[in-house]
Parts: sequence; C-alpha cells; structure tokens
Amino acid sequence: MRAKKSLGQNFLRDDDVIRRIVAALELSEEDTVIEIGPGRGALTEKLLETGARVLAIEIDREFVPALKVQFHFEPNFSVAEADVLETDFSSMLGGVDPAKTKLVGNLPYNISTPILQRLNDQRDLFSNIVLMFQREVVQRITARAGGKERGYLSVIVENAFTAQSLFDVSPKAFQPIPKVWSSVVRLTPKESVVNDDKLFRQLLSASFAQKRKTLLNNLKVRYKDAATILESAQIDGRRRAETLNLEEWKILTRAFKDI
Ligand code: SAM
Repeated sequence: MRAKKSLGQNFLRDDDVIRRIVAALELSEEDTVIEIGPGRGALTEKLLETGARVLAIEIDREFVPALKVQFHFEPNFSVAEADVLETDFSSMLGGVDPAKTKLVGNLPYNISTPILQRLNDQRDLFSNIVLMFQREVVQRITARAGGKERGYLSVIVENAFTAQSLFDVSPKAFQPIPKVWSSVVRLTPKESVVNDDKLFRQLLSASFAQKRKTLLNNLKVRYKDAATILESAQIDGRRRAETLNLEEWKILTRAFKDI
C-alpha cells in the first residue's frame, strides 16, 4: 500500500523511537490506550506487547482490514475506521477509569491544531497523552511567556495541560522520509486556570492575530472598548500578546467578561 501524502502518512521504522514513545506512556496491563492513526501498525505492535488494551482509530479504509488481519489473534486490539476529528472518545471508551486511560499518536501535521482543541475539550478522559508532531509545533506548544514561539496554541495548551517536550526525531526514522524533524511531547491533563473557554479562545485569536502588533492594536480590531478594559485589568496595551503569562490571560479574560 502506497503512503498517502494527503493523510500525512510517514511511517515509523526506527525501533528505538517506537520504544521510547511506548515507554513515555508508562503502560500497564490494566491500561487502555487510544492510538490515533496506526497506519501499518509499527507502534501498535509494541503497544500490544505491554499487555494494555489498544483502541485504534484509522481514517484510511485501506489500512483497516490489513490491521484487523495483522492483529487477528490479539484480544486486546480493536480498530475503528473513523476520522479522529469526529470521534467522541467518551463513547469509545465507555466509562473506563481515566487514571488508566492514555492516548498516543504519530499525527498528520495538518491536523495538529484541531486535534489539540479536541483533546483539550475531552482531556478529563485521560491521564497521559503522548503525541508526535512536527518539531516547530512542539516548540510552539511548550513556549513559555516571553518566548518568540509563544502563540495561541501555547496558551491554550498551557491552560489545560502540563506539556513536556521529550525528544526530537530525525526524518530518517520514517518511511517515506519527510522534509522536517519531529518531536514527541507528553501532555498531562490538569484543571484549567481560565474556564470561560469561548471568550478565552476569542481573546487569544484576536490578541495573536498579528504578532508584530501590540495587544491593544490587535484587540481593538474586535473590541471597541479594548483600551478601557486593558486599563481596568492593569495590563499595558503596549505589550505584545506573547509576553503575557497564563495568570495575566486569566485576569484579562475576567475583565472582558465583566463588561
Ligand atoms: N502510527 C503509524 C506510524 O507511526 O508508523 C502511522 C503514522 S502516519 C504519520 C499518520 C497516520 O494517521 C496514518 O495512518 C493516517 O492514515 C492516519 N490519519 C490521518 N488523518 C487521520 C484522521 N483524521 N483520523 C484518523 N487517522 C488519521
């Protein structure tokens, strides 16, 4: 079966990378792990060796029958032919203890942002999430306040997870060989600091709309009272969005909510 570029199909062929991803999940026999995009099953095979139950989601209908054959004798394996962006993890898991539920995926890079939004909304279901993304995406996800990579995704993720960049992966670890490096990141779900999700996301997208602009200049495009609100929140509108820490986003979201 040929790799499909449109589905981001670069298959892992480096056993050491696979071993390190599986180790990062800290799986036991009591665990259930959702695997996004098993492809040809390289990672799946090692996940099953831990004794954990593996629930795979694969969008490519050509791979699904092959996976069923490959893992026919594995009682702990099942695969759904589905788009992960339309999958309700809760009904898939059917009430499994979140402390024993994990998620892993070597993801197509074009779905990085929507999958993170989805995981954000359903993170209560998991205790440990290990994902591989393009290295630049992991740099963005883990950027702290003041860092030049800091953006919308950094703040959204920091609000919902403790994010830890684990290791980089060379293009040579894949077949076909991609143009870019990848990185593996662990996301540990946590209680959110900012709770008003809708307003928070609106504020973030307005604030980061043009990274070179100040906070005030970005915000006033969408909110005509932006200057007054920033003042009431005691946040200097001349700052740039990437300099704000999560506590300041919380203060700002509350100030915008109160108007
Ligand atoms: N896990 C395999 C590995 O490491 O060798 C394959 C990784 S490949 C980068 C990404 C996989 O995700 C492919 O099998 C692809 O078909 C699948 N995929 C792409 N988009 C998807 C989606 N929206 N939902 C579920 N699977 C998807």
